[in-house]
Amino acid sequence: MTASIKTEPVFTVFIGLGSNLENPVQQIRTAIGAIQANKGINLVKASSLYKTAPVGPEGQPDYINAVVEVQTTMQPQALLATLQTIENQHGRKRQLHWGARTLDLDILLFDEQVISQPNLVIPHAHISERNFVLIPLLEITDDSLMIPGKGQLNDLLQQCRDNAIEKLDI
Ligand code: ATP
Ligand code: CA
Ligand code: CA
Repeated sequence: MTASIKTEPVFTVFIGLGSNLENPVQQIRTAIGAIQANKGINLVKASSLYKTAPVGPEGQPDYINAVVEVQTTMQPQALLATLQTIENQHGRKRQLHWGARTLDLDILLFDEQVISQPNLVIPHAHISERNFVLIPLLEITDDSLMIPGKGQLNDLLQQCRDNAIEKLDI
Protein backbone atom coordinates (compact mmCIF):
# COMPACT_ATOMS: atom_id res chain seq x y z
CA MET A 1 0.00 0.00 0.00
CA THR A 2 1.34 3.44 -0.85
CA ALA A 3 0.90 6.22 1.65
CA SER A 4 -0.80 9.29 0.26
CA ILE A 5 0.33 12.70 1.44
CA LYS A 6 -2.46 15.23 1.70
CA THR A 7 -1.40 18.68 0.62
CA GLU A 8 -3.52 21.67 1.55
CA PRO A 9 -4.08 24.36 -1.07
CA VAL A 10 -1.93 27.45 -0.74
CA PHE A 11 -3.60 30.79 -1.38
CA THR A 12 -2.00 34.05 -2.49
CA VAL A 13 -3.37 36.93 -0.45
CA PHE A 14 -2.77 40.69 -0.34
CA ILE A 15 -3.21 42.48 2.98
CA GLY A 16 -3.46 46.25 3.45
CA LEU A 17 -1.93 47.75 6.59
CA GLY A 18 -2.67 51.18 8.06
CA SER A 19 -1.85 53.09 11.25
CA ASN A 20 -2.05 56.69 12.40
CA LEU A 21 -1.52 56.44 16.19
CA GLU A 22 1.32 55.66 18.59
CA ASN A 23 4.32 55.57 16.26
CA PRO A 24 2.65 54.37 13.06
CA VAL A 25 5.91 53.37 11.31
CA GLN A 26 6.73 51.06 14.21
CA GLN A 27 3.14 49.72 14.32
CA ILE A 28 3.35 48.72 10.64
CA ARG A 29 6.78 47.14 11.06
CA THR A 30 5.79 45.06 14.08
CA ALA A 31 2.52 44.09 12.36
CA ILE A 32 4.47 42.78 9.34
CA GLY A 33 6.67 40.88 11.82
CA ALA A 34 3.60 39.40 13.51
CA ILE A 35 2.12 38.34 10.17
CA GLN A 36 5.44 36.74 9.19
CA ALA A 37 5.75 34.97 12.55
CA ASN A 38 2.41 33.21 12.13
CA LYS A 39 2.98 29.60 11.26
CA GLY A 40 0.15 29.43 8.74
CA ILE A 41 1.36 32.47 6.80
CA ASN A 42 4.44 33.07 4.63
CA LEU A 43 5.40 36.61 3.78
CA VAL A 44 6.23 36.89 0.08
CA LYS A 45 6.67 40.66 -0.47
CA ALA A 46 6.18 43.89 1.43
CA SER A 47 5.73 47.29 -0.19
CA SER A 48 7.47 50.45 0.95
CA LEU A 49 5.79 52.49 3.65
CA TYR A 50 3.63 55.37 2.43
CA LYS A 51 2.53 58.48 4.30
CA THR A 52 -1.03 59.31 3.30
CA ALA A 53 -3.68 61.90 4.10
CA PRO A 54 -6.50 60.58 6.31
CA VAL A 55 -9.86 59.68 4.79
CA GLY A 56 -12.87 59.90 7.11
CA PRO A 57 -13.28 62.10 10.20
CA GLU A 58 -11.21 65.28 9.98
CA GLY A 59 -8.47 66.31 12.37
CA GLN A 60 -6.78 62.92 12.64
CA PRO A 61 -3.04 62.42 12.00
CA ASP A 62 -1.62 61.25 8.66
CA TYR A 63 -1.52 57.52 8.07
CA ILE A 64 1.29 55.14 7.31
CA ASN A 65 0.08 52.53 4.80
CA ALA A 66 1.64 49.47 3.19
CA VAL A 67 0.55 46.31 1.39
CA VAL A 68 2.01 42.83 1.79
CA GLU A 69 1.66 39.70 -0.30
CA VAL A 70 1.47 36.45 1.66
CA GLN A 71 0.87 32.80 1.01
CA THR A 72 -1.36 30.93 3.40
CA THR A 73 -3.15 27.64 3.84
CA MET A 74 -5.76 29.36 6.04
CA GLN A 75 -9.30 29.80 4.85
CA PRO A 76 -10.53 33.42 4.57
CA GLN A 77 -12.45 33.51 7.88
CA ALA A 78 -9.52 32.00 9.78
CA LEU A 79 -7.16 34.55 8.25
CA LEU A 80 -9.55 37.40 9.17
CA ALA A 81 -9.66 36.18 12.80
CA THR A 82 -5.85 35.95 12.88
CA LEU A 83 -5.47 39.49 11.55
CA GLN A 84 -8.01 40.80 14.08
CA THR A 85 -5.98 39.16 16.87
CA ILE A 86 -2.88 41.00 15.62
CA GLU A 87 -4.87 44.28 15.52
CA ASN A 88 -5.97 43.70 19.11
CA GLN A 89 -2.40 42.94 20.18
CA HIS A 90 -1.51 46.36 18.77
CA GLY A 91 -4.09 48.04 21.01
CA ARG A 92 -6.75 48.52 18.32
CA LYS A 93 -9.88 50.08 19.75
CA ARG A 94 -13.01 50.24 17.64
CA GLN A 95 -14.43 53.71 18.13
CA LEU A 96 -15.32 56.19 15.39
CA HIS A 97 -16.03 54.72 11.95
CA TRP A 98 -12.86 55.37 9.91
CA GLY A 99 -11.40 57.13 12.96
CA ALA A 100 -7.76 57.11 14.10
CA ARG A 101 -6.31 53.68 14.92
CA THR A 102 -3.09 52.01 16.01
CA LEU A 103 -3.44 49.25 13.43
CA ASP A 104 -5.82 48.28 10.66
CA LEU A 105 -5.34 45.06 8.69
CA ASP A 106 -7.64 44.54 5.71
CA ILE A 107 -7.75 41.52 3.42
CA LEU A 108 -7.61 43.14 -0.01
CA LEU A 109 -7.53 40.08 -2.28
CA PHE A 110 -7.77 36.38 -1.53
CA ASP A 111 -6.60 34.45 -4.59
CA GLU A 112 -9.26 35.05 -7.24
CA GLN A 113 -12.06 34.59 -4.73
CA VAL A 114 -15.14 36.77 -4.48
CA ILE A 115 -16.68 36.61 -1.02
CA SER A 116 -19.72 38.43 0.25
CA GLN A 117 -20.39 37.47 3.86
CA PRO A 118 -21.73 39.69 6.65
CA ASN A 119 -18.27 40.10 8.21
CA LEU A 120 -16.05 39.55 5.17
CA VAL A 121 -16.16 41.12 1.73
CA ILE A 122 -13.43 40.20 -0.79
CA PRO A 123 -12.06 41.95 -2.80
CA HIS A 124 -12.10 44.64 -0.10
CA ALA A 125 -15.21 46.80 -0.63
CA HIS A 126 -13.28 50.07 -1.06
CA ILE A 127 -10.18 48.85 -2.87
CA SER A 128 -10.88 50.72 -6.09
CA GLU A 129 -11.43 54.12 -4.42
CA ARG A 130 -8.22 54.15 -2.38
CA ASN A 131 -4.92 55.19 -3.94
CA PHE A 132 -3.21 54.44 -0.58
CA VAL A 133 -4.09 50.79 -1.27
CA LEU A 134 -3.68 50.68 -5.07
CA ILE A 135 -0.27 52.43 -5.20
CA PRO A 136 1.52 50.10 -2.71
CA LEU A 137 -0.26 47.14 -4.36
CA LEU A 138 1.14 48.22 -7.73
CA GLU A 139 4.64 48.42 -6.22
CA ILE A 140 4.63 44.69 -5.38
CA THR A 141 2.53 43.37 -8.29
CA ASP A 142 2.06 44.67 -11.80
CA ASP A 143 -0.43 46.94 -13.43
CA SER A 144 -2.22 44.15 -15.29
CA LEU A 145 -3.33 42.50 -12.02
CA MET A 146 -7.04 41.68 -12.25
CA ILE A 147 -9.15 42.61 -9.25
CA PRO A 148 -12.10 40.19 -9.43
CA GLY A 149 -15.34 41.98 -10.22
CA LYS A 150 -13.63 45.39 -10.43
CA GLY A 151 -11.08 45.41 -13.27
CA GLN A 152 -7.40 45.82 -13.95
CA LEU A 153 -5.20 47.53 -11.39
CA ASN A 154 -3.97 50.20 -13.86
CA ASP A 155 -7.54 51.12 -14.86
CA LEU A 156 -8.62 51.36 -11.21
CA LEU A 157 -5.65 53.61 -10.46
CA GLN A 158 -6.51 55.94 -13.31
CA GLN A 159 -10.07 56.31 -12.09
CA CYS A 160 -9.13 56.64 -8.43
CA ARG A 161 -9.23 59.89 -6.45
CA ASP A 162 -5.81 61.53 -6.17
CA ASN A 163 -5.48 61.62 -2.38
CA ALA A 164 -2.16 62.92 -0.98
CA ILE A 165 0.41 60.10 -0.76
CA GLU A 166 4.19 60.09 -0.31
CA LYS A 167 6.49 57.07 -0.51
CA LEU A 168 8.83 57.10 2.46
CA ASP A 169 12.54 56.66 1.93
CA ILE A 170 13.10 54.45 4.98
P1 ATP B 1 -12.89 49.86 5.81
O1 ATP B 1 -13.38 48.42 5.78
O2 ATP B 1 -13.74 50.81 5.05
O3 ATP B 1 -11.44 49.97 5.44
P2 ATP B 1 -12.23 49.87 8.58
O4 ATP B 1 -11.03 49.11 8.14
O5 ATP B 1 -12.02 51.09 9.41
O6 ATP B 1 -13.07 50.32 7.31
P3 ATP B 1 -12.91 48.06 10.62
O7 ATP B 1 -13.53 48.72 11.80
O8 ATP B 1 -11.44 47.74 10.69
O9 ATP B 1 -13.21 48.91 9.32
O10 ATP B 1 -13.63 46.69 10.29
C1 ATP B 1 -15.02 46.56 10.30
C2 ATP B 1 -15.37 45.15 9.87
O11 ATP B 1 -15.09 44.95 8.50
C3 ATP B 1 -14.59 44.04 10.54
O12 ATP B 1 -15.15 43.69 11.77
C4 ATP B 1 -14.64 42.90 9.51
O13 ATP B 1 -15.52 41.87 9.92
C5 ATP B 1 -15.21 43.57 8.27
N1 ATP B 1 -14.58 43.23 7.00
C6 ATP B 1 -15.30 42.98 5.86
N2 ATP B 1 -14.48 42.69 4.86
C7 ATP B 1 -13.22 42.74 5.34
C8 ATP B 1 -11.95 42.53 4.75
N3 ATP B 1 -11.83 42.21 3.45
N4 ATP B 1 -10.83 42.64 5.54
C9 ATP B 1 -10.97 42.98 6.86
N5 ATP B 1 -12.16 43.19 7.48
C10 ATP B 1 -13.27 43.08 6.72
CA1 CA C 1 -9.52 49.68 6.47
CA1 CA D 1 -10.28 47.03 8.81
